[in-house]
Amino acid sequence: MGTSMLNLGIPPQTVAIIGSGFSGTLVAANLLRNTTIPLKIKLIERSSQFGRGVAYGTQIESHLLNVPAGKMSAFPDEPSHFLNWLHKNGYEEVTASTFVSRRIYGDYVQAILKEAEESKPAYVRFEKIVDEAIGIESASENTTIYLSGGECFSAQKVVLALGNFSASLPQPLASLPNRDRYITDAWSQDAIAQIKSDDSILLVGTGLTMVDIFVALQRQGFSGKIHAVSRHGLTPIRHEKIQGKSSIYPAFINLETAPKTARKLLRLVRQEIQIATEQGQNWRSVIDAIRPVTQSLWRSLPSPEKNRFLRHVKAYWEVHRHRIAPEIADILDTVAEAGQLNYYGGRIASCQEVENGVNVTIRQRKTGENLVLSVDKIINCTGANTNFRRLQHPLLASLQEQRLIRTNTLSMGIDTATNGALIDADGKVSDQLYTLGTPRKGDLWETTAVPEIRVQAANLAKEILTSSSNKFYAAIEEIWFKEKLTSESNPSKMIFRQLFDRESCTYTYLIIDGETHTALLVDPVLEQVERDLQILRELGLTLRYCLETHIHADHITGTDALREITGCAAILPENSQAIGANRYIRDGEILKLGSVEIQAIAAPGHTNSHMVYLMNGSHLLTGDALFIRGCGRTDFQNGDAGALYDTVTQKLFKLPDDTLVYPGHDYQGRTVSTIGEEKQWNSRFSGRSRKEFIELMNHLKLPYPKKMSEAVPANQNCGKVVNVWDFQI
Ligand SMILES: Cc1cc2nc3c(=O)[nH]c(=O)nc-3n(C[C@H](O)[C@H](O)[C@H](O)COP(=O)(O)OP(=O)(O)OC[C@H]3O[C@@H](n4cnc5c(N)ncnc54)[C@H](O)[C@@H]3O)c2cc1C
Repeated sequence: MGTSMLNLGIPPQTVAIIGSGFSGTLVAANLLRNTTIPLKIKLIERSSQFGRGVAYGTQIESHLLNVPAGKMSAFPDEPSHFLNWLHKNGYEEVTASTFVSRRIYGDYVQAILKEAEESKPAYVRFEKIVDEAIGIESASENTTIYLSGGECFSAQKVVLALGNFSASLPQPLASLPNRDRYITDAWSQDAIAQIKSDDSILLVGTGLTMVDIFVALQRQGFSGKIHAVSRHGLTPIRHEKIQGKSSIYPAFINLETAPKTARKLLRLVRQEIQIATEQGQNWRSVIDAIRPVTQSLWRSLPSPEKNRFLRHVKAYWEVHRHRIAPEIADILDTVAEAGQLNYYGGRIASCQEVENGVNVTIRQRKTGENLVLSVDKIINCTGANTNFRRLQHPLLASLQEQRLIRTNTLSMGIDTATNGALIDADGKVSDQLYTLGTPRKGDLWETTAVPEIRVQAANLAKEILTSSSNKFYAAIEEIWFKEKLTSESNPSKMIFRQLFDRESCTYTYLIIDGETHTALLVDPVLEQVERDLQILRELGLTLRYCLETHIHADHITGTDALREITGCAAILPENSQAIGANRYIRDGEILKLGSVEIQAIAAPGHTNSHMVYLMNGSHLLTGDALFIRGCGRTDFQNGDAGALYDTVTQKLFKLPDDTLVYPGHDYQGRTVSTIGEEKQWNSRFSGRSRKEFIELMNHLKLPYPKKMSEAVPANQNCGKVVNVWDFQI
């Protein structure tokens, strides 16, 4: 199969991945493991180490992961992948709750890349390039990437896996003249090489980078005094082993009803912690239970509330959420008790260079009093710099110059669409440039650790493969079509079946091309997948497409499950904010199933991206836009009563009167109607003005569908049910 694919004469798409830390490496590995079409993948890394990045490049054994081994698999759908790898590679003693070194984790990521490279299909080309990307130029079909070595090449898809940029020194330290006393990049391999064992040191920052530097100093036999200062003086809290059932705390935040202010959210979490504590549960489980909904909660907060969270809650969130291994916490506690390590909460008010060092004045948070520390060296431990406006890097300057990125208003990273596509300075979503991990911080808040990045990497690879496959198969179809033109014309033989799901009262439609025995399903239901498969088997059909009218709120679609089993393509309306589809369908586009023609007609109103489908000009599948003697509600998912009125009266009612109307639901046993009938008897529209219709729809007072909070996120991913495990830490 490999050779025949290459012989088709269709040039393969090129995917360029800039950065080979965990993010870039996992996008590459997912592409290599899953592609079924010819592809060229170029992985560019400026350091010679592929697969390690900032976090896993350390050689210090006591730099431990801050997540236990059992939760550090690189693949969302293979939870034991890391543990199994450890056991096969000489670490038999490691259990799911062990905190292994980050050096070993780097070995693991490198091994994943090696294995994916070695077992890639013959029709895939993979190239590792040691160089720095310094410029980018995007045209309508291709993006050109310029490397510091002088080379350049074109790609159809580009992933910016740039990761963590080191922090700049905060004021007033930044303006001091003697650079020898300051270590700006705490992550560099030789950060503490020049420190003498009896120096007195100030660490600026009390988070995970401070912990890393402390551990490295310890290993170097450091015996001097360490001062560590941050605004709040809070330090990361230790992990605790929570075993059995209580380790998984039930979800307690409903996205639909969750408060939309930082203060109320904080109160909700505190209350839950109180309840949990009274029941003998550990607060850590409550914090972990927020993980699956953190990104959605963040996105639902208005900007002023996000800012409020950053000002007042962030410092507390960080130490409770990003915890450290108990063995590291023990060492920190011992050294702090012995007086060698001191923490301060406050602001660096001023600093002055003196003959033997620097005098730093700290205005203490609690008392407001000044404290002067005399130190030999200062190390910047303030963590990653995510303010893309301030970052000075040729690649970012190039992206900015061409308006290809829009910096996030919260000064955290850049704006992205749900699938990780970049949003440019004019608000346009790119179909060539993508990112993941830290650059998405402003959009997602929790996006920097393995549990989030592994999901993003898998989804992004799927997204790239889907659109590359579409182009590949479209090219093949063109070849087939040309061949077909020379053969005899073939009259349409459409077979039409209506199927029903009793629980949600949903109609699924099976459309068959009688000539080719190919089929498509419109709006399949997850619980009915077995039924649908049986019909397909009995009728000897190949399922080519699953087509959605919209993102349903009352049931989960069967599309993803059917795709997994049959290999069919999932097609969703464009602008549906959904990820993972094989193809997105536009208004007016005609999909072909053999000789059957399916025309997509944009039908906004019930949801803003709703489509209806006209089969061979005779059967109109109206989804939740138009029901028999009724219509879909318009009070959530960007529904709009005015838009629905226009859709039905200006578009659907303009079709011939004998067009058959097949709705997405019926609650009274009706199966089919016609446009003529609906124009006359549908009381929602007949004799009602637009204003009256809006008034009516805005006062329906219907309860939200029971399954809504589960169904909408799943349907935004073609019906893939969100796996709580993906987000556990
Ligand atoms: C010190 C530290 C410890 C951490 N520990 C944990 C942990 O225990 N568990 C956890 O889940 N998460 C941890 N994290 C979070 C960490 O961000 C992620 O786990 C993950 O490593 C991020 O990977 P990345 O590829 O996005 O970024 P990075 O690791 O920063 O990798 C980005 C890569 O891109 C390369 N690059 C950047 N620009 C260019 C360019 N223009 N051209 C070519 N190459 C370029 C860089 O050289 C780098 O190798 C830690 C983070 C840090 C900083």
